[in-house]
Amino acid sequence: MQILDGKALSIKIKNQIKEEVSRKKDSGASIPHLCAILVGNDPASETYVRNKIKSCEEIGFKSSLFRYESSISEAELLHQIDVINNDPDIHGLLVQLPLPKHIDVSKVVEKIDYRKDVDGFHPMNIGRMAKNLPCALPATPYGILKILEEYNIETKGKNCVVVGRSQIVGSPISILMSRPAYPGNATVTVCHSHTIDLASYTRKADIIIAAVGIPQLIKADMVKEGAVIIDVGMNRIDDASKKSGFRLVGDVDFNEVKDKCSYITPVPGGVGPMTIACLLLNTLQATN
Ligand code: NAP
Repeated sequence: MQILDGKALSIKIKNQIKEEVSRKKDSGASIPHLCAILVGNDPASETYVRNKIKSCEEIGFKSSLFRYESSISEAELLHQIDVINNDPDIHGLLVQLPLPKHIDVSKVVEKIDYRKDVDGFHPMNIGRMAKNLPCALPATPYGILKILEEYNIETKGKNCVVVGRSQIVGSPISILMSRPAYPGNATVTVCHSHTIDLASYTRKADIIIAAVGIPQLIKADMVKEGAVIIDVGMNRIDDASKKSGFRLVGDVDFNEVKDKCSYITPVPGGVGPMTIACLLLNTLQATN
């Protein structure tokens, strides 16, 4: 079994972007500028946004953080997005999710200028992705493609089972894995909470992409010998031996599955770090 080291790959990509930013500086070209909007003070969202801003600083991007109280009205938030859409100095804009219940997420996502939508969630980008046209890919699926590419994993003609069909991971990665390109050209099955006998699908899979949010759902007896395992899950479970009182585990039971598969992404250190790296790649692309 070989570990698919997303952390190492994310560092490699960030270094490549850093060099590109340096070249831009030397030539007087625009420096990529990522803007994040954070509404409220959800601790997980705070951490995600902090990490994104920190990554921008590490590689020489400009960054801005606009913070609003959770009481901000939908109309006011949409207005602020418009202001950023019209600011030529800002190339990428993300609105950290989730948003307070009184704000319609779809309206917010659709308000972002799709050319600045570095999360790749705008219907224009999703549509272009489905048509295999150049676009900003959703960052987590983009990260999965980058991992498969880096390790030269064959996907053509393979049985790929995606567990989960969310708008941000499961659904887009299922489209990408079946598109006529590399990585892609796989025969894709999408499983979800209404799937009957999940194991009967995963056991036939050459590639399993698990994006469910249930700790260690995928066990060894659900996996074919030699399968490639991409574990997107990031779940906190109690662990009294840790100072924090918890540890992160994936949707796959790593200890059980590791001796049966050919490749596996660890949690943490697999898909997670690639998500930020690909967000930065999208921002660089939005600047060019
Ligand atoms: P989500 O929006 O909650 O979607 C979960 C999906 O799993 C849904 O489609 C759901 O089906 C399906 N599901 C639930 N129970 C199932 C079961 N027993 N069998 C088969 N499918 C089942 O989650 P998400 O946003 O995609 O995130 C999934 C996991 O990935 C979470 O742990 C999250 O923290 C992690 N994540 C990691 C990254 C990263 O950067 N590494 C990024 C995003 C998310 P229904 O559609 O029928 O409800």
